[in-house]
Amino acid sequence: MMKKKENKAGDKSVSAELEDPTKKYPKPPFKKQKQPWPGLACKMDPMPDHGEISYVGSGRLTGRKALITGGDSGMGRAAAIAYAREGADVAINYLPAEEPDAKQVIELIKKEGRKAVAIPGDLREEAFCTRLVEKAVKGLGGLDILINNAAHQQTRPSILDISAEDFDSTMKTNVYAPFWITKAALPHLKPGSVIIVTTSVQATDPSPELFDYAQTKAANTSYVRSLAKQLGPKGIRVNGVAPGPIWTPLQVSGGATMEKLKNFGGHTPLGRPGQPAELCSIYVQLAASDSSYTTGQVYGVAGGDGQP
Ligand code: NAD
Ligand code: MG
Repeated sequence: MMKKKENKAGDKSVSAELEDPTKKYPKPPFKKQKQPWPGLACKMDPMPDHGEISYVGSGRLTGRKALITGGDSGMGRAAAIAYAREGADVAINYLPAEEPDAKQVIELIKKEGRKAVAIPGDLREEAFCTRLVEKAVKGLGGLDILINNAAHQQTRPSILDISAEDFDSTMKTNVYAPFWITKAALPHLKPGSVIIVTTSVQATDPSPELFDYAQTKAANTSYVRSLAKQLGPKGIRVNGVAPGPIWTPLQVSGGATMEKLKNFGGHTPLGRPGQPAELCSIYVQLAASDSSYTTGQVYGVAGGDGQP
């Protein structure tokens, strides 16, 4: 958390301060840092902001039941915190190595008086993906929001440096897992339910060193556009979020080169990377009932760079 600022959202006598988006959060150059995959948000410098201090809810998701993969850190954690503050019960999935980050999220959800369900496990296994949905449904007492957010990203200078095992890990986590999870979840989703996928600007503007990852993000974007058409008649909305460079563990645990990290986000018109907290409102908006005519869309959050 970078900023400890008193939130005035509930106080009608105070107007909200104008915030210059170029100055709101840290800019490059960043310190060199590398963590073993999958990385921990709590060990990053500076620590990412997931809205822990700033996000204020207003009951927009009261009584909803959400399953979020990769809910321990990054975008998934920002969504988990915001959802709990909007009145939703939340189950998060993460890898066992991410327990320190996950514990913090579980505490934050409980602090809002909502149900918090922690389901560690590896999404590269179909049997686990099926169990994950069963456990979430049991723990939450149902399911009406699914966020397929977890992903694997490792930078490799050449296609020749990508082993079949690497390629398989990226495909299994980013493409197969959402497929398996969605199939398991669908029988539980009633009309009014929503599916949200975290895709990327890499889907439409791929980097040379993210050859395998970029393909999976194109698949995620197509998942949204196809499934929205399939599930529209059933009253289930499907949308995507396409971030640009966001300050998360994925980037410091092999997702970016040290050189890219040092100037991370510096190439965008806003001159800095985004923070997960800056995506909270998009995940809430796409899940809320007042966006009932929005489906098959991909929302970009990329500091003025890239295309969703
Ligand atoms: P993050 O590291 O905080 O989140 C990724 C999560 O994926 C991890 O926390 C981990 O729990 C989960 N994960 C990875 N492999 C897994 C496996 N085998 N089993 C179970 N869980 C696994 O990073 P993030 O940047 O918040 O990533 C969230 C989403 O955002 C991803 O879909 C990513 O592609 C997307 N995204 C990130 C950026 C960025 O710059 N950070 C940009 C565009 C898109
Ligand atoms: Mg994590």
